Amino acid sequence: MFWNEELETIEENKLRNLQLKLLRDTIGRVYFNVPFYRDRFQQINLKPDDINFVQDINRLPFTTREDILNNYPTGLLAVPRDEMVRVHTSSGTTGKPKAIFFTKNDIDKAADLIARCLVMTGMRKNDVLQNMMTYGLFTGALVMHYGAEKVGVLIVPSGPGNTERQIMLMKDFHTTALHITPSYALYLADYIKTKGIEPAKDLYIKRAYLGAEPYSEETRKKIEEMLSIDVFNSYGLSEMNGPGVAFECEYKKGMHIWEDNFIVEIIDPDTGEVLQDGQKGEMVLTTLQREGMPLIRYRTRDITTIIPERCPCGRTHRRIDRIFGRSDDMFIVKGVNIFPQQIENVLMATKGVAQNYQIVLESLDNMIVKVEIAKDLFDGNVMHLVNLQNKIVESLKKEILVKPKVELLEPGALPFSEGKAKRVIDNRTL
Ligand SMILES: [Zn+2]
Repeated sequence: MFWNEELETIEENKLRNLQLKLLRDTIGRVYFNVPFYRDRFQQINLKPDDINFVQDINRLPFTTREDILNNYPTGLLAVPRDEMVRVHTSSGTTGKPKAIFFTKNDIDKAADLIARCLVMTGMRKNDVLQNMMTYGLFTGALVMHYGAEKVGVLIVPSGPGNTERQIMLMKDFHTTALHITPSYALYLADYIKTKGIEPAKDLYIKRAYLGAEPYSEETRKKIEEMLSIDVFNSYGLSEMNGPGVAFECEYKKGMHIWEDNFIVEIIDPDTGEVLQDGQKGEMVLTTLQREGMPLIRYRTRDITTIIPERCPCGRTHRRIDRIFGRSDDMFIVKGVNIFPQQIENVLMATKGVAQNYQIVLESLDNMIVKVEIAKDLFDGNVMHLVNLQNKIVESLKKEILVKPKVELLEPGALPFSEGKAKRVIDNRTL
């Protein structure tokens, strides 16, 4: 079922024509209304009329997170401040956040994309969504909330945390879907198991939407098995609308990115060169319908690929692969580039490993992987522990080519976060 069948299955050439029209319109608006962009375009002697093909976007300069920070808070607005009805900020580093402003239309359009996403995964009016993301300046919860309201589902705006109470709400309100971070989903699944609750019998959950932090395919499988549900990948970032930029359909093979709202490019993060579909690189997004704060060729720092094949679901909007990592998350040990997701993939596929882990970087060639394992393993034969430890070391070496130290810990030994998890602790003094 579709939320907007005409737009979701629009013919490829019509989609490109629509993109061109919206791109030209966006370029015109920022040229005349945002001094930052006018200056940038004048520097390369580019006028809005010079954009005649979607590919002409390659001529435009990138926008970076530093550009947003340098223009904090209102320097990138394309309509008067009075037209704005909401501001969200990005999570993340210390100092000033990135501020993103929305007009009434922007809020409505973001909600409409969420509605497409939810209906695409099988959500209907009679569903109950427990929204376990943080409500507030972070886009995650509120943008999803407005979209779910559009579909007409019952929303339980629980926010994260207080797991005992979350389970009570799930039982009392017959929650059928969760919106949750991967790290909290793992914790929740484990909590449910230790309480002796059988999800398939005692709860009503059918699906969960996981977003806000990259996670591995093995983690998805683990959560699906533990809770007996379907888990769908959700992609978004505060600088775009928050959630709803790209989302998985029923086939769960990559996320459809709504190309009538965004132009997606994959670039080589070092050279800025645009890569072909199927090649892995940094995703760059351009907003096509945003009024308040359009962004041109925004460097997301998220690493993925575009899946060129048509999806059997009939939607023509191309898919992106799961986020392989944020280019910021990548670290180097013994000269090898490593993403935390590679380590997560190995750990979550290993029998006996529990939900929580941490990567500690001690020096340029010394890394410790701390991992919680099932409680009963500590009570059993010590040789089993040694074998498990060796097995993890060997599997990690195969995946990341570097042999890390591995420490096995009892469940609960590592700090747990209800929001985004801090997986990498960097103790290196450079
Ligand atoms: Zn599909």
